[in-house]
Amino acid sequence: MYFRKKQLVDNQLKIDIRDLKKKGFKYGAELSGTVTMTSKGSFAFSIDENNLFLMYSYRDERNNLEPVRQEIKLNSSECHYGGMRAYFICSKCERKVMALYLSDKYFYCRSCCNLAYKSQQENKVDRLLRKARKIREKLNAENDMLGIIWHKPKGMHHKTFNRLSDESNTLMKKYFSGLLNTLRRK
Ligand SMILES: [Zn+2]
Repeated sequence: MYFRKKQLVDNQLKIDIRDLKKKGFKYGAELSGTVTMTSKGSFAFSIDENNLFLMYSYRDERNNLEPVRQEIKLNSSECHYGGMRAYFICSKCERKVMALYLSDKYFYCRSCCNLAYKSQQENKVDRLLRKARKIREKLNAENDMLGIIWHKPKGMHHKTFNRLSDESNTLMKKYFSGLLNTLRRK
């Protein structure tokens, strides 16, 4: 689904070659400054010839700030109608791109970021299935994840049994909707 993909990318911090141009960037010349991304923070940059150095603090899932420094290659080519157009070279796939997106600490091109995001989402979905499987094991339920949990194990309270089987059902529901989402993104 195109909409989802677009939304996904727009939610991420992005550095655009046009942002740098607004700051006076010209390919091959030295320049330094900061770029602020509305409400999402800012990064400092410096450019020397064909290297762009980015400096920023990355906030991880636990809210820790980590100083990051990334070097990105710049390149340029001639436009059809004269003049030069500058590009970033993605540090992962070395493609020429106009914009880079923050993905897990570093800036990469759109397709490299999408790949990273997809595998994150897939891990999340797999985790739901693993959790549900554990509960089913506890309840001595059959291996078929869709099978109804019929029997309460001996010695287990009814309350506990109901709670665990509810939990397993909720996990499976989440698992299937998550699975659908990752399939739609492919
Ligand atoms: Zn890339």
